[in-house]
Amino acid sequence: MITRIVKVDQDNPSSEAIKEGVTVLQDGGLVIFPTETVYGIGCNALSAESALRIFSVKKRPADNPLIVHISNMEMLHRIARNVPEIVERRWEEFWPGPLTIIFEASSIVPPEVTGGLSTVAVRMPSNILARSIIEQSGLPVAAPSANISTRPSITSSDYAIQEFNGSVDLIYDAGKCSLGLESTVIDIRGQKPLLLRAGSMNVEDISSIFGEVLVDDIARGIKYSERPVSPGTKYKHYSPVKPLALIQDKSLFKKIMTEYGNDGRFLFIGLDEMLNGGGKNKIFLGDSKNLKDAARNLFSSFREIDSSECTAAIIHEFPEEKEGLAIMNRVRKASSAVIRTQSDFNSFLESL
Ligand code: AMP
Ligand code: MG
Repeated sequence: MITRIVKVDQDNPSSEAIKEGVTVLQDGGLVIFPTETVYGIGCNALSAESALRIFSVKKRPADNPLIVHISNMEMLHRIARNVPEIVERRWEEFWPGPLTIIFEASSIVPPEVTGGLSTVAVRMPSNILARSIIEQSGLPVAAPSANISTRPSITSSDYAIQEFNGSVDLIYDAGKCSLGLESTVIDIRGQKPLLLRAGSMNVEDISSIFGEVLVDDIARGIKYSERPVSPGTKYKHYSPVKPLALIQDKSLFKKIMTEYGNDGRFLFIGLDEMLNGGGKNKIFLGDSKNLKDAARNLFSSFREIDSSECTAAIIHEFPEEKEGLAIMNRVRKASSAVIRTQSDFNSFLESL
């Protein structure tokens, strides 16, 4: 199929550019658009047929539900039942923004979108282009991250064009996403809010609205469950094709970098201060004092692994607070080896 590629300013989109996306959504087609988190691949959330096309283009397992994006609260009430009182009262403190909340689904949401669950995940994005196409189409928009399943999410339109030109109706060529990591997913139906997926909105900020958030090892990306509350957590995610090793000890990371920094086989990825010193193959993610830059740059660094000459990449552990919680979740899931000791690293070398 022919994909229309529409160049647009995501902060100040022209009415013609918005109209193109609106028409595709209303006709049941697929649109790749930027949000503040990552690029999404979207369709009319009320159309089972369009949703099935998303699963097929992304090669996504059918039981991994889609997040439905809205532009106003009236849309929420169309797709969700029994909206908790705290959401009615305080939604303007977190929406529009990178927080996804699980609600009981209304009967108009097809099971293809919810992965057969009785619930629906909903978010109101802050990106102006995203919100404009949703608002003007009058449709809730089902949109998972715009990447082939298991691959790193897409945070820049160049990668969206590379991966999906010819398989969707429209791609907005709108540059980079401002946050770069997916939304945080929470379930607030129980006594305490439960973190289902760490993401761009900090647990610290969510707790200030909803009360103390329960963070388990599944949300951290440490533990695996065959039947998690959030089906997406059981699948392989975010992975470069080449091996990525996570070094869990700072001094071991530095030692390995000193030894192998000039060895063309390895690409080192990390915070600026961790990459200081010798060696040439490095991706500097940002300052350690503010992890926002590292969050924004992480997925493109995973994609650079595959386009570089290296055989394998090496990344260090991040402190699990603020953005660090979501960063570590992505790093754990993307890594093919977790290295704690020199002998772990030697085995990794032998495996290459
Ligand atoms: P993605 O679309 O790639 O950003 O992934 C969406 C995430 O939201 C996945 O981890 C899904 O498992 C999760 N999700 C979507 N809908 C639900 C739901 N109804 N209940 C629990 N988790 C959900
Ligand atoms: Mg995804």
